[in-house]
Amino acid sequence: MSGFLDTDIKFLKGVGEARAKLLSSQIEVVTFRDLLYYFPFRHIDRSRFYSIEELTGSDIPAIQIKGRFISFRVEGEGVRKRLIGVFSDGKRLMETVWFSKIKQFSEMYKPGIEYVIFGKPNFFHNAWSIAHPEVEVYDPEKPPTGFRGVYSLTETMRKRGLSTRIIQTIVSNLFEHRQFPTIQETLPGQIIERYRLMPLQEALRQMHFPTDVRSLQRATERLKFEELFYVEAHILRYSMERGSKLPGYVFQTIGEKFNNFYFNVLPFQLTGAQKRVLKEIRADMKTGRQMNRLLQGDVGSGKTMVAFMSMLMAVDNGFQAALMAPTEILATQHYDSLREWAEPIGVRVALLTGSTRTSERRKIHEGLLSGEIQIIVGTHALIEDTVQFKALGLAVIDEQHRFGVAQRARMWSKNTVVPHVLVMTATPIPRTLAMTVYGDLEVSVIDELPPGRKPITTLLRFDSNRMEVDRLIVAQLREGRQVYIVYPLIAENEKLDLKSLEEGYKRTCETFPSFPVCFVHGRMKPEEKDHQMELFVSGKARIMVATTVIEVGVNVPNASVMVIENAERFGLSQLHQLRGRVGRGADQSYCILMSKAKAGGDTKKRLAIMTETTDGFLISEADMKIRGPGDMEGTQQSGLAFNLRVADLAKDGQILTRAREAALAVLRGNVSLLAQGCTPTEVRQGDLEPIPLSPEEVSIIARELTLRFAKTVDWSLIS
Ligand code: ADP
Ligand code: MG
Repeated sequence: MSGFLDTDIKFLKGVGEARAKLLSSQIEVVTFRDLLYYFPFRHIDRSRFYSIEELTGSDIPAIQIKGRFISFRVEGEGVRKRLIGVFSDGKRLMETVWFSKIKQFSEMYKPGIEYVIFGKPNFFHNAWSIAHPEVEVYDPEKPPTGFRGVYSLTETMRKRGLSTRIIQTIVSNLFEHRQFPTIQETLPGQIIERYRLMPLQEALRQMHFPTDVRSLQRATERLKFEELFYVEAHILRYSMERGSKLPGYVFQTIGEKFNNFYFNVLPFQLTGAQKRVLKEIRADMKTGRQMNRLLQGDVGSGKTMVAFMSMLMAVDNGFQAALMAPTEILATQHYDSLREWAEPIGVRVALLTGSTRTSERRKIHEGLLSGEIQIIVGTHALIEDTVQFKALGLAVIDEQHRFGVAQRARMWSKNTVVPHVLVMTATPIPRTLAMTVYGDLEVSVIDELPPGRKPITTLLRFDSNRMEVDRLIVAQLREGRQVYIVYPLIAENEKLDLKSLEEGYKRTCETFPSFPVCFVHGRMKPEEKDHQMELFVSGKARIMVATTVIEVGVNVPNASVMVIENAERFGLSQLHQLRGRVGRGADQSYCILMSKAKAGGDTKKRLAIMTETTDGFLISEADMKIRGPGDMEGTQQSGLAFNLRVADLAKDGQILTRAREAALAVLRGNVSLLAQGCTPTEVRQGDLEPIPLSPEEVSIIARELTLRFAKTVDWSLIS
């Protein structure tokens, strides 16, 4: 069914061939519909002056307030030092905050003069405040400029003159088009009524051209609700009841291999947390129900060993086990560790990745089918259809945020009985969120690091401190240590990024001429990448200049310095992951965050958190609090396989709860929407009133679910 909204964007007034190419290549806007859903990432309301009194709710756009500064004070120390100005609109007070140029600002703004401050208000510590507002002396002659959306644009678009203004114009042309249709509602009328939601048609228009703040808030809320409603419906629809519904293999015995390994091979003492988690896993795997467990543990907490010993439980009971990693490098490294541990006890481990040769691959396929290979380590190659097991008893997935639910489902489909599944992640997902999103997923936490590790010293440094940083690096290299230097890569401008990486490599070679440097980035051929990684792992290269390909899991205990360039361009959780690459040996390690000297308030605050704590859970919490709306990292950091466009799980918990309730009520009232063979306990039990729908509404929901999730999950494989 193709209609007006499926029209090629080039036919829209004001677009044409050239711009259409730009829109599709840069921001994936190909059809009228894509443009309609390409929302501004923020809004600016300069249509009038607001009073402090009328501010309510979240998601307030940048607005202007007229008034006077009453007083200034300085709070905090060091990087947390800030200037707070108390601002009055004549009726109420609010705060303005500056994290830099404190002296300058405190002298610049005079009490008694009437100013207009402009910025996004946040409600914080029981008061409204605007951080780093734009401040102008009030000019009664200046005309209001309206309420507008600001669209996210790439460098390339800007360079070719495709501005926010132009996007506004073409979006407006779209709405004004003679044939612009009535947009079909995507939520059932009863849901819209019950939750007092703005209808879709109106919400879409308000997102682009808001009439006032309240309407914009309601439009945003409506779209968030809708998004979360479908995520929840999707999950509930497929969440399977465990127990009688999903039988699991029984691993009755702790056998010879496990004991042999534990008493004769295990190179260190397990931490208390590792022991506890192993007990939890063991208890799970002998119940006769399928285990579906999320193993959270900070970087370096020793998840791999837990995985390996769980795999031995499978092997001892006559089953095979698989470990799937997100990258070839990681898989190879896991393979190396596992082989070292498994060989002495006579357990056969094999590696299967995209670059495994055909002849070797065939042998592995045979070995898996005959059961000769007991443990297989690999990448996505493991879920290819040709891979078959004699008896896969346990599937371990490392760093789950790189895999979608789809891949998990495919792993399961390898057997008639679903194998036990252990998902390992260093990304802390708040437990409540994990439950909401995964339903029946059990969570284990390794909350203890192996002993003898010195805390990593984290330093925030600027370009002006280069010499000092270089000296520290040289000192460490002279002591025999190894060093990582990491650059961010941002898809927005790949060429420029690669250039800065290459320049960094050149500079590193010149600055440390007596130490071999290797060079790794994501767009290298796998063989070349492996070769470069190998140089570092073996110690032949002493410095590695890289992009975030090293982010997950590389283990080089001799590395003691992690330099992160343009640290402000990384999320905190990502910085934490990177930092976890050092501090794995007994030596003092350093993490140096390099940033622009001019970094603004929020950036400094964020980076300062890294210097204050090494607790991954605290960091992710802080990250969630500080991050602004529409942050692209949101979904990745929460470990979700879904791409959320408007909702932010860290902030929209309340909407999530309501959306989940609505989804539950709808599924309860329309069991035909449930996936075949799935009857989640939750859908059957509880006292939430079902919402029965008309057949048309049911088909709308079914269609939306397919549209939204067809690409992410092929669930037919598990039913
Ligand atoms: P992660 O949880 O980040 O995957 P790894 O499994 O890579 O961590 O473990 C990090 C390092 O700590 C590895 O070198 C591993 O061999 C080592 N390790 C794991 N458990 C212990 C322990 N109980 N005592 C000492 N070292 C350990
Ligand atoms: Mg790991």
